Amino acid sequence: MKPTICNLLPIPDLFKSKSILCIQPHPDDLEIGTGATVARLAHSGIPVTCLTVTDGSAGTYDPTVNRNQLARTRRLETEKSMHSLGIDELIWLDYTDGGNLPFEAVRSDITRTIRRLKPSTIMVCDPWLPYEAHSDHLRTGMAAAEAGFMSGLPFFCPEDLEAGFEPHKNEIIAFYYTAYPNTYIDVTETWELKMAAIDCHTSQFPPGKKELLKNYLATKASIQAEKQGCDLVEALKVLSPGHLHIFEEAWQC
Ligand SMILES: [Zn+2]
Repeated sequence: MKPTICNLLPIPDLFKSKSILCIQPHPDDLEIGTGATVARLAHSGIPVTCLTVTDGSAGTYDPTVNRNQLARTRRLETEKSMHSLGIDELIWLDYTDGGNLPFEAVRSDITRTIRRLKPSTIMVCDPWLPYEAHSDHLRTGMAAAEAGFMSGLPFFCPEDLEAGFEPHKNEIIAFYYTAYPNTYIDVTETWELKMAAIDCHTSQFPPGKKELLKNYLATKASIQAEKQGCDLVEALKVLSPGHLHIFEEAWQC
């Protein structure tokens, strides 16, 4: 067998996670991207925390909206939504929504959160999604991938050491919104929890758009489930931190 990183480094089992830090750029991304899987993981007894990077205040087409009020509304919607998925611990970084994230600051905040909570697993949107045009997603995904790969190194974000946060090596990093899935989670039993969680986000969707999104998600979940022998799946790219540096085959693992 030709030695590649795909057969030398095993793909981790998400359900062997001891605790999970889920990271989303905006309120609602986690639910849309992988809400049914998160509900399965949380209901299996694995502690799950959700970190939201932005305040969600750009999630509107209405230029007259009060952005502070919109951010408050979206926070309330997210609390309700995450509770329905089985997540009660929420962290807000509260960066201004809208494509101007300061990458290094976000990476430092995520690194410190990893060192504080010591999760075995990180879940985040895939920054290598082709045609993704929203830089909040690209920067959040890359900041979390880099933090997930580097948080075990004491001289990465060394100010944490002085502040009393020890390096921490997580074991698994799982990407949602991915074009290169390698893991298909049977979410038939938690699909309605995902739909209910998406329904909590009433401020985000103009009339008709939510139904379109839900139909799209259900159709995709059903098509991807055909080969898995179940009704509905969510597709993820699950890797170990070791896959995330120098290996040109990692996208194929
Ligand atoms: Zn988003």
